[in-house]
Amino acid sequence: MKKWYYLMMMLALALVLTACGGNSSNQEESGSENNSTMENTEEDATNEGTADEGTKEEEAAEMAMVTLKDAEGNEVGTAEITEENKGVTINLQTSDLPEGTHGFHIHETGKCEAPDFKSAGGHFNPADVSHGTETEDGPHAGDMENLEVSADGTVDKEIMNEKVTLAEGEDNSLLKEGGTALVIHAGADDMESQPSGDAGDRIACGVIEK
Ligand code: ZN
Repeated sequence: MKKWYYLMMMLALALVLTACGGNSSNQEESGSENNSTMENTEEDATNEGTADEGTKEEEAAEMAMVTLKDAEGNEVGTAEITEENKGVTINLQTSDLPEGTHGFHIHETGKCEAPDFKSAGGHFNPADVSHGTETEDGPHAGDMENLEVSADGTVDKEIMNEKVTLAEGEDNSLLKEGGTALVIHAGADDMESQPSGDAGDRIACGVIEK
């Protein structure tokens, strides 16, 4: 009878051990569940990282704003600059400007000190070429077609400039260190005279800002 007793004890023990083994393997499973939960968390973090990159892409495709003022400090226009696949679009709206043809450029320094706006420097020219579309090695990145101001003093125009970008860090970035500015001149740009098309005085200026 003792033999049977021991045998039963052994069986019971074996069952307990198996049960324990089962438990421990369950724990391992739940442990691995925890691991996979952590992996998921890591994946979430990675996804967040991707989302951040997406946001950066949006930032690169963002806009810049310009408020143009005349020599007396009166606001005479605004421009909304939008990054495109190639270059930028400048959406320009002005008022109270003298009727006629006026040179319109991006200048190399983001500083507009009235009344002469010479603080804006020369034309934005990162490629170091000549001024004007009619010159052999031109134009400047900041050269754009003349504005036609109507009799009521307004301009409402969308201008493409494929030679510049809002992407910071690029040589031709409008948001470079020191900034850039939009300038409207008193006269027409002849697109060939150096260094600025003989367009006369600067009558309005606005810093290009994010
Ligand atoms: Zn120029």
